[in-house]
Amino acid sequence: MIVQQQDTYRHKGLREKLITLLQEKGIKDMAVLEAMRNVPRHFFLDPAFDKIAYEDRAFPIGEGQTISQPFTVAYQSELLKIQKLDKVLEIGTGSVYQATILSEMGAKVFTIERQKKLYDKTMKHYPFKSKYLHLKFFYGDGYKGLPTYAPFDKMIVTAAAPYIPEALIEQLKPGGLLVIPVGEEGKQRMLRITKQEDGNIQEEAFDYFSFVPMLEGKKN
Ligand code: SAH
Repeated sequence: MIVQQQDTYRHKGLREKLITLLQEKGIKDMAVLEAMRNVPRHFFLDPAFDKIAYEDRAFPIGEGQTISQPFTVAYQSELLKIQKLDKVLEIGTGSVYQATILSEMGAKVFTIERQKKLYDKTMKHYPFKSKYLHLKFFYGDGYKGLPTYAPFDKMIVTAAAPYIPEALIEQLKPGGLLVIPVGEEGKQRMLRITKQEDGNIQEEAFDYFSFVPMLEGKKN
């Protein structure tokens, strides 16, 4: 993530094309599209990727991790049905792009990263610290959620989960939603879990994706 980059007319034009592509691929939520139009994705990437930052692809961000593909970010954000001031927990901060999109949509975002190096990089370079005052960063293991700040209206997991962590369900408000890709390495199914008012769980299944794995424990 690079601090001093410029958002030129060329970048804005490429972003506009990406928004059109996302609509062609089926994204309908105007608030999601507007947020992705407003947030410069190239700010979250190494300058070497400047020319291709608006391709609908994932890119490496160091430490073996990736920034999610724009379509995936849009897809998960849409499934979350974000309302302004929703309290959202994200597992897998990575480049902070997804967390920034949710913040731009008006959510209060709590994001957790298990890799100290990525967390430290974020703390040092995040370009919008003074813009999104409701965005909070945590170094920890997402399998445990964030009990101190629970319960949450919404949760999003941006790494491939082998199963649905029980702690996340526990920390979800009644009526809350959890969007999580579940499955083996290489292929996961996007699930949306609704915690009903009576505490029961309802599960909806969507398309297949490929995320980096959600790993247990913190890494120094
Ligand atoms: N949302 C990110 C996607 C990053 S890739 C973005 O927009 O760029 C997934 C991230 O999840 C990686 O940074 C990885 O280190 C992190 N991760 C994997 N398992 C985790 C866990 N148990 N807790 C917290 N973060 C985890």
